[in-house]
Amino acid sequence: MSLRDLPSVDRILGSSAGATLVESYGKARATDAIRKGVDALRSDVLQGADMPADPGASVLEFAHNMLKRPDPLRPCLNLTGTILHTNLGRAILPEEAVRAASDAMRNALALEFDLQGGGRGARDDHLRGLLRELTGAEDATVVNNNAAAVLLSLNTLAAGREAVVSRGELIEIGGAFRIPDIMARAGARLVEIGTTNRTHAKDYRASIGDATGAVLKVHTSNYRIEGFTHEVAAPELHQIAKAAGVPLLNDLGSGSLIDLSRYGMRREPTAAEAVTNADLVTFSGDKLLGGPQAGFIVGRADLIARINANPMKRAMRLDKIRIAALSAVLKLYLDPDRLTQRLPTLRMLARQQSEIVAQAQRLLPEVAGAMRGLGYDVRVTECESQVGSGALPTDTLPSAGLALTGVSGSAPDDIATLLRGLPVPVIGHISGGALILDLRALDEDDALVSALAGIAR
Ligand SMILES: *Cc1c(COP(=O)(O)O)cnc(C)c1O
Repeated sequence: MSLRDLPSVDRILGSSAGATLVESYGKARATDAIRKGVDALRSDVLQGADMPADPGASVLEFAHNMLKRPDPLRPCLNLTGTILHTNLGRAILPEEAVRAASDAMRNALALEFDLQGGGRGARDDHLRGLLRELTGAEDATVVNNNAAAVLLSLNTLAAGREAVVSRGELIEIGGAFRIPDIMARAGARLVEIGTTNRTHAKDYRASIGDATGAVLKVHTSNYRIEGFTHEVAAPELHQIAKAAGVPLLNDLGSGSLIDLSRYGMRREPTAAEAVTNADLVTFSGDKLLGGPQAGFIVGRADLIARINANPMKRAMRLDKIRIAALSAVLKLYLDPDRLTQRLPTLRMLARQQSEIVAQAQRLLPEVAGAMRGLGYDVRVTECESQVGSGALPTDTLPSAGLALTGVSGSAPDDIATLLRGLPVPVIGHISGGALILDLRALDEDDALVSALAGIAR
């Protein structure tokens, strides 16, 4: 056989297998993949390879392999032990929010429309009332994420002026969110005060002046300074700012609407407490709150009005899908007693280690069975989960899971790669030479069993 036997793109497209490819992937992609397959085969043959017995079939196989790439956005199992994993999309939403979001996607809704008067409404109004009720704030507004909330607040309060921040709070959250850079983009001049470990009331008093647009307090979300330290707590700082007639902006980062110490977590001020000790408070929608990505700004009505009048706000507004989902999540907070049943983030956070150990024991036989042929031993192990996304960075939650260890020295990376490549990817973390599957975030045993069934296929 020679190059003359190379079938044309049209002929392969016209074959029944070609038609199936078109059916699955559409004419444009199928044609493109077949053309690339023909080109690849031609160049192989020109470089001395034998022409295959059925060149059309080999081109189709090439095209199929090229097109069948699984969707990287397919659902996966987060068994990393980090409940709010930024790289895995943070919070898993409650069913109430899923339904509200899908209704919003399928239908028209009165997003900016007053159903009573028939005139124009405001999209923020759907969340404003709930946020006021849940935080006690005078007013509230919502933007794309908390980074936007901080940027917009600083720009509104301190563009062309100074913003005072303690050196102990000049944080980097990762992903280029660094306070000095955000400050610069907000058009505010950063005034750093105090030292890394100690900042005092007198430091604030000495640096607040006529040019000050805002005092910023930032939650040190992803680290903690310990030892010989001092910070000015929000209540005292609020008094200092008030006396100087300057607004205090408190960026809580994760922020929570309820006191998490009832689930054994460290006591952190809730958004409602923070509101009483600041003029504006910002926090995230998809961290501890357990909703979709969003940034909340709550506090003084006059300042919220200025924020809403800032043209930047329009560039950061939420769409109807997220407003619907957020509203559903916030409504769950009106009934705090049932939150852990209904809100996945809190349910995962509140799970007791003993319950997770029992789950690991239940799953052990199935998982061990799936691993045996691959040369991995499985045992139940205790481990530590974390909240993630900069919430309570130094606190861990006693948890349990399954440890997968290579019998004949196979590296845990190999099994980690294999599990990541499953139709439903299973993502654990490597520790002490084993791949650990922390089960804290696994709601249904069956989800893991059926994901592992993908190994056989
Ligand atoms: C996470 C965090 C942010 C950014 O919030 P996003 O919702 O991820 O944009 C800002 N400030 C602090 C203190 C944070 O912890």
